[in-house]
Amino acid sequence: MIARRLTTFKITSLWIYLILPIAVQSASHQARIQNTDYWDLRYIANCVGLETSWILPNEQLKLYSSQIDLRFQLHKKEYTHNDLKVYLGYPVAKHRGSLYISKNDFRKVLIPLLVPKAIKNPKKLYRIVIDPGHGGKDPGTQNHRYNLSEKDLVLKVAQKLKLLLQKRGYKVLMTRNSDVFLRLEERAEFSNRNRADLFLSLHFNAASTKSVHGLETFLYTPPYQPSTYRTKYLASDKIIRKGNINDDWNIIVGSLVQRRILMTMRLKDRGIKKARFQVLRDITSPGMLLELGFLSNDATARSLRSDDYLFNLALSITNGVLDYQKLLNLLRSR
Ligand SMILES: [Zn+2]
Repeated sequence: MIARRLTTFKITSLWIYLILPIAVQSASHQARIQNTDYWDLRYIANCVGLETSWILPNEQLKLYSSQIDLRFQLHKKEYTHNDLKVYLGYPVAKHRGSLYISKNDFRKVLIPLLVPKAIKNPKKLYRIVIDPGHGGKDPGTQNHRYNLSEKDLVLKVAQKLKLLLQKRGYKVLMTRNSDVFLRLEERAEFSNRNRADLFLSLHFNAASTKSVHGLETFLYTPPYQPSTYRTKYLASDKIIRKGNINDDWNIIVGSLVQRRILMTMRLKDRGIKKARFQVLRDITSPGMLLELGFLSNDATARSLRSDDYLFNLALSITNGVLDYQKLLNLLRSR
């Protein structure tokens, strides 16, 4: 199931992007819910040629075609996009017997994933900056039982990833290639100075509950929405940062990389999430921060002692980047 394509090229009409917002605005399919503009999912489905059916009446709604399967649940921020978990900025709401999503999420999530050809200026992809998190005096998260440090593991994955991407013809640069400390702003500066086309920040994370495990990918939060772990919208959320220039490409490439890692590594899908991380805030290229597993989970920690496992992580990221390249080629050829 997970192998289903995330982006569906069969929906070809640019009018979805151009006309639908006008159509929805002029119709009675919009609502103002908790100070946020929402649109009726069933109306959106109708406009983009998707069928709808209730999985659970008034609670769970499916939008689908032969290639697409989107599942939304009342009050939830996350939905599944062809089985991949993606976090919206605002929870799904109920209105007039239908489920609604925020206009912001329609524009920032559904459009790029469903109609990538609607996104202007397909990027070139040649220079890739890999950013192994932490380093030097900052070990990142640690697992003392297995003698593992995040700073060492991300460097190992980064070095393997660099070789794999170089073999595919990319120019690859690393923010650090040894155990040195770098400030967060230096990482973004390095990426911008080297005119990166893609920025990949590699991390592992930890939780106080040892059973927590899986993969999550963070993208810089689009403006006018709260980050995944906040419910309240703040005035500062309106500020548009450099990291927002590529909101649309961020969700496209982030989803492709997350999907490839899940397909290969059989990790639990913890979703595409949004955060206003400093390292993503100032980058001028598309980029993401990958949390490649929980060091606090013993089974994950045991896997991470294997060089093969680290290689497969790097290979799956490479394949995600190649999927992005394929999509860019397709978009440019039209
Ligand atoms: Zn980290």
